[in-house]
Amino acid sequence: MTKDLTTISRRSLMGAAAALPLAAAATGVSTGAATAAGHGGGAPMPKSRSFKLGDFSVTTLLDGSVSRDGVKDIFGGNASDEAFAQVSAENFISAEAAQFYFTPTLVDTGSELILFDTGLGRGGIVAALAEAGVTPDQIDVVVLTHMHPDHIGGLMTDGAATFANARYVTGSTEYNFWSKMEAGNRVGDLVAKNVTPLAEKMAFIEDGASVSSGITAMEAFGHTPGHMTFMLESGGRQLVLTADLANHYVWSFAHPEWVVSFDSDKDMATASRRKILGMLAADQVPMIGYHMPFPAAGFVAPRGDGFRYVPVSYQLMG
Ligand SMILES: [Zn+2]
Repeated sequence: MTKDLTTISRRSLMGAAAALPLAAAATGVSTGAATAAGHGGGAPMPKSRSFKLGDFSVTTLLDGSVSRDGVKDIFGGNASDEAFAQVSAENFISAEAAQFYFTPTLVDTGSELILFDTGLGRGGIVAALAEAGVTPDQIDVVVLTHMHPDHIGGLMTDGAATFANARYVTGSTEYNFWSKMEAGNRVGDLVAKNVTPLAEKMAFIEDGASVSSGITAMEAFGHTPGHMTFMLESGGRQLVLTADLANHYVWSFAHPEWVVSFDSDKDMATASRRKILGMLAADQVPMIGYHMPFPAAGFVAPRGDGFRYVPVSYQLMG
């Protein structure tokens, strides 16, 4: 039996080797055909990915993804065309267009389910949670890192709270800024519609506040006036939810000083990037960034005067 199998497998190996040039050519053709016809026969891209951090289970949830052009104006406002093109080429990406990702994160502490940000409000977060086996009514706490529409859009569904049993946590500086905005401001109007109705169930926090045991707020102002990041600590391990601290995995890391159109205070945003990315690089602490390519988890390495984002592979599996 064993002998037969060995013979067969040896024979097929030789056959495979002999046929290699043809097989390689055929593979090339079929890959191209599959891409043209819709790769994978329409199999959906995974929307949830779970990591272990001590006793915490940390799940990134893909709310949505879109491609955008005009990216030099968005991520390299003060960069030369040459420098922007060079960094893009060195990292094998286009300097003309980019894929955007929107990735809330769910932390299961063992006693609470804590959701960080809620997506664009087009149902993506509920679908991603369903893939992770969680229904919206199971969410105990919703944390808002800041109040841009792609983070608060999913708070309400048809005028009612999406997460019916949740309490809420957000930065006081952030809420005070947007809730006092006059009508007609796009973000202020959405805050009035989606956030203010929930204010009585909301805790307003400052830098260093504890959201839950092992989860601590760290201010990272600049992207918005009260933008917050969060340190997760469990079982002697750390991970930082960096939210919108750095919004492109190549450009914002390689050149933290490059002006990003989405940042409200450009200098403060750069200072926050340098400070927190520097800390993550020095301590080799992993991060999850809301707009990093899914599954949105990585490490930060020094690179010249800036940094390099290194996506997680299998480091956070257990
Ligand atoms: Zn955002």
